[in-house]
Amino acid sequence: MFEKILIANRGEIALRIQRACREMGIKTVAVHSEADAEAKYVRLADESVCIGPAAPGQSYLNIPAIISAAEVTDAEAIHPGYGFLSENADFAERVEKSGFVFIGPRPETIRIMGDKVSAKIAMVKAGVPVVPGSEGALPDAPDEVLRIARSVGYPVIIKASGGGGGRGMRVVHTEAALVNAVMMTRAEAQAAFSNPTVYLEKFLENPRHVEIQVLADEHRNAVYLGDRDCSMQRRHQKIIEEAPAPDINPRVKARIGERCAEACRKLGYRGAGTFEFLYENGEFYFIEMNTRIQVEHPVTEMITGIDLVQAQILVAAGQRLPMKQRDIVFRGHSLECRINAEHPYKFTPSPGRITQFHVPGGPGVRVDSHVFTNYTVPSHYDSLVGKVIVWADTREQAIAKMRVALSEMIVEGIQTNIALHQELMLDSAFTRGGTSIHYLEQKLSKQARPD
Ligand code: ADP
Repeated sequence: MFEKILIANRGEIALRIQRACREMGIKTVAVHSEADAEAKYVRLADESVCIGPAAPGQSYLNIPAIISAAEVTDAEAIHPGYGFLSENADFAERVEKSGFVFIGPRPETIRIMGDKVSAKIAMVKAGVPVVPGSEGALPDAPDEVLRIARSVGYPVIIKASGGGGGRGMRVVHTEAALVNAVMMTRAEAQAAFSNPTVYLEKFLENPRHVEIQVLADEHRNAVYLGDRDCSMQRRHQKIIEEAPAPDINPRVKARIGERCAEACRKLGYRGAGTFEFLYENGEFYFIEMNTRIQVEHPVTEMITGIDLVQAQILVAAGQRLPMKQRDIVFRGHSLECRINAEHPYKFTPSPGRITQFHVPGGPGVRVDSHVFTNYTVPSHYDSLVGKVIVWADTREQAIAKMRVALSEMIVEGIQTNIALHQELMLDSAFTRGGTSIHYLEQKLSKQARPD
């Protein structure tokens, strides 16, 4: 096992990874920007290194500074967390070439999955169902593009192969608009991602976002750890996640889970990963794979009892998965609410000093947060200040527990979206379960809001 791990991230996930390491008796190195020097997890780390100014480009995305920090502290492995460099194949390669272990998949795998056209082709080969559409990249010839769209059927969505974060996509409803839309998406993709490759898919009108968590070792063992429903989104940003996804036949889930595990074996996948699907009318359609730990991983930990970050570390050290598929039992229901420093209805960021911070507790309540009273939320990074996670036997009980937990939570000095979560925990469509990815935006656009 490793003696020392460098955590190349910040905020709640840096603390989460640090906790996993400390429980395993592994020393930690925190790297931080000037803006995060006072963070609690920086002080709790065995060693810390300032890697640059607040701007992420000069600190958390600064590859040479991170590698140097690993060198001077004699760390053996680097955990990238989520966001920042976690899905950057060049970073993973540089880490390994410099003699450190990257806690994640091999750089080649990250590269394949980071390109949506090659990811989709790999999934088709591995027998994972994908959204019907063009086989690979769209050709240049307009006639060909029209033919493909006709065979798929309108509406269609044009997507940039190099896209991410909800950017580089365009929905097309009529044939008359198609060729121009392809040209525009291509030009935008070239400007934003330096890659003009686009592809076409059937646009699903009312899907849910359901994803499958996998875990694989270097010895071609792979398991799936069930599913999560992350349909409650605004601008493609998830705000509530739950496991298991409500109201889907367990046999259908097991079938898709097994397909994902099998795809991992075929790809020689290593580490934790997530297959993201759109789910509509009883069918799963792959959209992308995330080759890292996800923000919403705790809900899976709650229903399986498996520590996903510790599992990532074990397999990165070359160990075999400590469990087989038959050992994995899904128990109860878990929900996660992301607490963001933002206006609850206008969604403008609300950085600043937290004058009072109090977290809920009790059985089945978990709060993953790096903040505390008098902590200042910097304006340079994403607005996540913590995650409230609950577990109970049933979904109904989990919702009741979340209502109580949110009512106990106090965050003063900045604005947060706690009020929105409280409203959603009482929303009849949410409490029924199975709302589509458009539900939240539709609900917000219908309501007149107080300031
Ligand atoms: P990104 O990497 O930018 O997040 P994804 O491929 O994961 O891109 O798609 C982001 C979101 O766009 C999805 O969660 C969904 O809301 C929407 N979307 C993508 N593809 C389709 C599709 N074929 N039909 C309907 N909505 C889609």
